[in-house]
Amino acid sequence: MQDLIRQLLAELGEDPSREGLRDTPKRVEKAYRFLTSGYDADIDRVLNNALFSVDYSEMVIVKDIDFYSLCEHHLLPFFGKCHVAYIPSTKVIGLSKIPRLVDVFARRLQVQERLTNQIADTIREKIKPLGVAVVMEATHLCMSMRGVEKQNSFAVTSAMQGAFRDNARTRMEFLELIKLRSAVPGVRDGAAASYACVGDD
Ligand SMILES: [Zn+2]
Repeated sequence: MQDLIRQLLAELGEDPSREGLRDTPKRVEKAYRFLTSGYDADIDRVLNNALFSVDYSEMVIVKDIDFYSLCEHHLLPFFGKCHVAYIPSTKVIGLSKIPRLVDVFARRLQVQERLTNQIADTIREKIKPLGVAVVMEATHLCMSMRGVEKQNSFAVTSAMQGAFRDNARTRMEFLELIKLRSAVPGVRDGAAASYACVGDD
């Protein structure tokens, strides 16, 4: 990878051998390895020993989870907050594991819609809750830095499954509890954020 980065620097019109850039290929490789480390993560190991049987069926919410990901169209960051809720049927996930689960999928090349769905799908598969909801709000640097529709570089996506999809009251309770900071009207089920990066250019 370091040779490729050196080549990239030269293609950009830089001198890869100048002092400030000498260690850049090494640093860039290390950064990219970390930012894509989610590919190697084993979900079951991440959740290891943190699935508990319960006799409890109230909504569990973990909100304002910071996440950082890379847009697969431009390899530029998109980042923001992730809110997760579920209604347990027989099992819960240790609360500290939810942010780790978000990281596993965020540390890959992503589009925000898929990232949102992968988190929801994994929780559904692992603990079979009565419902699961994931909402992600993110700023896309590939939009704002490139000056593409600057005001629309903020996107909200959601995945609503089970009770959150079928029961408007449950869904509203969740949305009320997370109080989206954006004014995007009506977070739709599985909404494709048409205003986020869609890789047109
Ligand atoms: Zn992009």
